[in-house]
Amino acid sequence: MSQWVCRGIKTRIKTTHYPAQAETAPGVSPGLPLGGAYAAAVASLVNLCPTKAISPGLVKDSLIVDYRRCIHCFRCVRGATTPMRWDQGWQWAADGQKCDSVAPGSEGNRLGRVFAHSVHIIVVDAGDCGACLNEVKQLNNPYYNMHRLGFFLTPTPRHADILLVVGPVTEHMRLPLLKTYEAMPTPKRVIAVGACALSGGVFGPSFVSGAGVAQTLPVDVQVPGHPPPPLAILHGLLVAVGRQTPASITSPAPILPEATTR
Ligand code: SF4
Repeated sequence: MSQWVCRGIKTRIKTTHYPAQAETAPGVSPGLPLGGAYAAAVASLVNLCPTKAISPGLVKDSLIVDYRRCIHCFRCVRGATTPMRWDQGWQWAADGQKCDSVAPGSEGNRLGRVFAHSVHIIVVDAGDCGACLNEVKQLNNPYYNMHRLGFFLTPTPRHADILLVVGPVTEHMRLPLLKTYEAMPTPKRVIAVGACALSGGVFGPSFVSGAGVAQTLPVDVQVPGHPPPPLAILHGLLVAVGRQTPASITSPAPILPEATTR
């Protein structure tokens, strides 16, 4: 123990500089597969995916990845003759279904400027396996230190601005989740974190769990990943308060000449 204290004093606590600077430390993200053109490998890659996250694109010989379903199993890379290209980033948070009617770039679904430096978050475990919850916990450690950005955890819904949900929403957690949301003051926002919270993941939908948070609550921000790394969750929080721009929840479709479309 004493050696760790001495080491900490000697090296000082290092905190990531994200979002002011890009994080370049190795291992901060498991990455996500990239869609695009894959020539003759399209059918085999679609069949390799156990969660049906990969589907043929509208453009001939192209693939689209639905990040709500991807569980980072790497089958499309390690088990494939033509491996999928891989994105090592982490800025994956996208607008939620609630925002479909809101114009892109609109501030309509963001918490306003008054929340810029003091946002309180309540976390609800709605049937999580523990993985996403563990990544959320990392936001409080000295390396990610979300307090420096004005984000704080609160155990009471009455003090919360953001409801952060992990897990597919099991039958037993549906009512507690609704009660938590209803007890929060307005304006309030909902962030769904992880593949299970976005699509049911490997659990649902089934007789005990649903197909994600959107079946129960209006979701403002979706953070894909299985589990998402802490930086992706931090990006989701920054998107919710309008300090970062959202990403797309599916891989972008390749732009090819019109003649090659189906
Ligand atoms: S890594 Fe994601 S896209 Fe690739 S096979 Fe696994 S679940 Fe499907």
